[in-house]
Amino acid sequence: MNETILILGASGQIGNELTEKLRTIYGNQQVIASDIREGNANMMEAGPFEIIDATDKNTILKTIKKYNVTQVYLLAAMLSATAEKYPQKAWDLNMTSLLNVLDLAKEKHIKQVYWPSSIAVFGPTTPKENTPQKTIMEPTTVYGISKLSGEFWCNYYHEKYGVDVRSLRFPGIISWKSKPGGGTTDYAVDIYFKALEEGSFDCFLSENTRLPMMYMDDAVNATIQLMQAKSEDIKIRTSYNLAAIDFTPKEIFTEIKKHIPDFTITYKPDFRQQIADSWPSSIDDSEARKDWNWKHQFDLSTMTKDILTNLKK
Ligand code: NAD
Repeated sequence: MNETILILGASGQIGNELTEKLRTIYGNQQVIASDIREGNANMMEAGPFEIIDATDKNTILKTIKKYNVTQVYLLAAMLSATAEKYPQKAWDLNMTSLLNVLDLAKEKHIKQVYWPSSIAVFGPTTPKENTPQKTIMEPTTVYGISKLSGEFWCNYYHEKYGVDVRSLRFPGIISWKSKPGGGTTDYAVDIYFKALEEGSFDCFLSENTRLPMMYMDDAVNATIQLMQAKSEDIKIRTSYNLAAIDFTPKEIFTEIKKHIPDFTITYKPDFRQQIADSWPSSIDDSEARKDWNWKHQFDLSTMTKDILTNLKK
């Protein structure tokens, strides 16, 4: 595989682990990490790192030329909860960065683009359970509006200019190596840290709020599998529904309690409850499973064991 990859927004929750995995596959020097802030020590030492603002097209282009980059993974974004506080900034970052990268692909500076969408493209009028690939999409958050518009820009650049852009509608991503960056599903990461550090957790969602989720290992594997699939197998150029598990705060609490019997929880829903209530509780991802053979590996129980074992170390 002769690819040189540039990751924009590499220092965040997903970038951190995606960079590490891509470097093991393509080689450390073939994967250029970049962000507006430095990444962790491992990222900075293992391979090239550049400070790049994803809204600055010229700097992206200079870096593409400097390293002969063939693929860009665009992860820089403002996430759901933060975007509700800074709507204009979120729109500017989420849209400008995407149009920059799509234009660079249209101008043939790069061959392939990855850009994650989100379950936030759905809204309160979307069927909540087993949400289909094609359905009513009326998002009520700034983040959701930016992701839905982004999906249709991706499709437009593919149809009109032949750009090879690929996308996944990520559910909430759960990790232990890096902390999340301002989303509505962040509680499902914090809960593990608090269970071990304090033995108690204040949850900002109510106990029966069911949301689609995925362990980081599965999210990273899905991304790489999608990018390595043959172009003709990618039938959807907006963004693929993607699913693994779904659970409520009460269910993840009960699962953790099996390992930490004294663990306690209280529920204090805040403004994020309204965002969560507008999203699906489970996702039908049969198109991804059919088109490029997607399979998840982790369920709630195996993920919980894996996270607690690693955090205890
Ligand atoms: P994150 O907030 O943890 O990381 C985003 C990174 O982008 C940060 O390191 C930040 O410094 C960087 N950034 C911010 N502004 C920038 C700019 N102008 N130029 C360059 N970098 C900039 O987010 P994440 O969870 O890693 O999300 C990555 C992508 O996945 C985003 O598009 C997000 O919408 C999507 N996504 C994430 C989740 C999730 O649960 N984490 C779910 C659905 C979709």
